[in-house]
Amino acid sequence: MSLALENITFSYNSVPVLNTITQEIKKGEFIGLVGPNGSGKSTLIKCINGILKPGEGKIKIDQAELSALNRITLAKKIGYVPQERATLPQSTVFDTILLGRKPYIKWKLNKADKQIVIKIIKQLNLESIAMKSVRALSGGERQKVFIARALAQEPDILLLDEPTANLDINHQIEVMQLLHKITKQNYTIIAAIHDINLAIQFCSGFIMLKSGKLFASGGKEILKKKNIESLYNAKVNMTEVNGNAFFIPVSNDL
Ligand code: ADP
Ligand code: MG
Repeated sequence: MSLALENITFSYNSVPVLNTITQEIKKGEFIGLVGPNGSGKSTLIKCINGILKPGEGKIKIDQAELSALNRITLAKKIGYVPQERATLPQSTVFDTILLGRKPYIKWKLNKADKQIVIKIIKQLNLESIAMKSVRALSGGERQKVFIARALAQEPDILLLDEPTANLDINHQIEVMQLLHKITKQNYTIIAAIHDINLAIQFCSGFIMLKSGKLFASGGKEILKKKNIESLYNAKVNMTEVNGNAFFIPVSNDL
């Protein structure tokens, strides 16, 4: 399943936020969507998810135009793990994940739906918390549950908005490892990620947004000092950790 963005433009109340974004994303990629606060990452994810409609441009999934797909068809193709979670479900982990099956359920659950949920619970090691309330979980557990719910949708493309925000380093790694593993199972993942040093360890490709424009895209080779400094308007030092670039912000005052 390939995803093509063609000249995507989006405005909130006539304030332009995305400016002619063109990008192709191949199946099996784990794309880190990076860029400063307010650069349009969440907006782009919402356009790909169909929550927002681009003012201009086209989004194509395997040649089919996204705008021509109905919500149920779209939900079978694209899963979404949003960032903001003002209200948490009152339900158990199991029931929350089961909700991911909604696009497939007419009025009655069948055995296969439950089996898919059980499979995902095992795969993500959520057995011990399956009957807990989502509200009683830690941030890291909760994030895995929402990823599990999106996986229960059996989408081809998984979109995540800052999946590691507010997680401690151990859970950041756990979630990124999980996503990395999932891409090996033929998912295509696009995740907005704040931490460039985390993204570089796990992502296969990168899309850099700056002020709503595509600043650069490609593999690890685009994560170089010059690009990072210009992308974030910040001074950084670059070193190497485990064969990957590692960026350390530096203050001009020191
Ligand atoms: P990012 O996720 O990269 O931080 P966003 O996509 O959230 O960026 O925001 C891009 C720009 O759009 C920002 O200037 C932000 O203030 C603006 N924006 C985001 N959401 C809305 C909204 N619902 N209404 C108006 N402006 C918005
Ligand atoms: Mg955002």
